[in-house]
Amino acid sequence: MSSQPRCPHCRHFLYLDALACPNCGADLGFHMLSRQFYGLRNNQVVIEDRTWYTCSNRSWACNWLVRDDAPAGRCFSCRLTRTRPAANDTVALQKLAGTEEAKRRLVLQLASLGLPIVGWDVQPGGLGFDLLSSLTDGRPVMIGHANGIITIDLAESLDDRREALRVRLGEPYRTILGHLRHEVGHYYQNVLLTDDEDWARCRALFGDERASYRDAIKRHYALGAPEHWHDSFISEYATMHPWEDFAETFAHYLHITGTLQTAAAIGIRLDAAVTSLRDVDVIPRESYEDQPIQSLLTDWEWMSQGFNRINRAMGFGDLYPFRLVEPVRRKLAFMHDIITKAPLTYEQQLAIAAPWDGERA
Ligand SMILES: [Zn+2]
Ligand SMILES: [Zn+2]
Ligand SMILES: [Zn+2]
Repeated sequence: MSSQPRCPHCRHFLYLDALACPNCGADLGFHMLSRQFYGLRNNQVVIEDRTWYTCSNRSWACNWLVRDDAPAGRCFSCRLTRTRPAANDTVALQKLAGTEEAKRRLVLQLASLGLPIVGWDVQPGGLGFDLLSSLTDGRPVMIGHANGIITIDLAESLDDRREALRVRLGEPYRTILGHLRHEVGHYYQNVLLTDDEDWARCRALFGDERASYRDAIKRHYALGAPEHWHDSFISEYATMHPWEDFAETFAHYLHITGTLQTAAAIGIRLDAAVTSLRDVDVIPRESYEDQPIQSLLTDWEWMSQGFNRINRAMGFGDLYPFRLVEPVRRKLAFMHDIITKAPLTYEQQLAIAAPWDGERA
């Protein structure tokens, strides 16, 4: 099944954040279980004999559907948000809409990779999001992860602010989605590494995460990354501490699989005659779950060059301004291993995460 979202009425192409069809104007809601859009009547739709409603955050641009018995009428993604700006803080709430959109994309990807998503309100240490604004609160908001809760500074959704930070920190890439993918990597390190053998393999690749984090921060901000960091790390930030290397690599696994999934869904492929160094077409897959890591990395090597050229054609910087050197490839292979080890079905995911969304009536 292609996950290419289409209008149920006129089959027109839709972006994931569509609230209405740009072609026929139909009101639409996104149904996470089937990964499809449904047409709405009076903000509801019947799917398999069960009534689904629009999420109570629809006025803040959430287009997901909730089943009739969902608590507070919040969708699966919105329920993961533990803290958000006050209801009267409309400026911050507008920034929240963009961040929530990135978060829905993240949640959808985690689900399609078969990763367990257990919410903070279901289990202590479960996944949750504190979406705060340093502008409103007048005090700094540290982007980070602690005990399942990911904190994001909504002020980073302001382009000028985020871009200034990106330049100051010398980063080639900085987006809200990138932050989310990195922080969720911290969460999954503890969820996916379940035994001593996993941790031993992890330490052999990323280093010993029991090293002092406080010392690592001090060293990183005083001295910067070591000179030849390119030879073994995906980014300067990854050099700071083994935890950060893991989270950075996890984020890249999501960047790569997410972008290839989109390319596959819209049918982008590279003709062998064009790439010329290969005798077969490069055909991205929606899922690499049953593929060896080499197939993922080879497809990405070619597709990312294609995407970079498209970006350059519009005067932008490279879509993927990173180089995957051999040690980083080995780290990505480890990610591939632990992520594809025991994928859950959609029903299993939702049954543990949101029982009221997950059971089929
Ligand atoms: Zn339509
Ligand atoms: Zn929602
Ligand atoms: Zn981090």
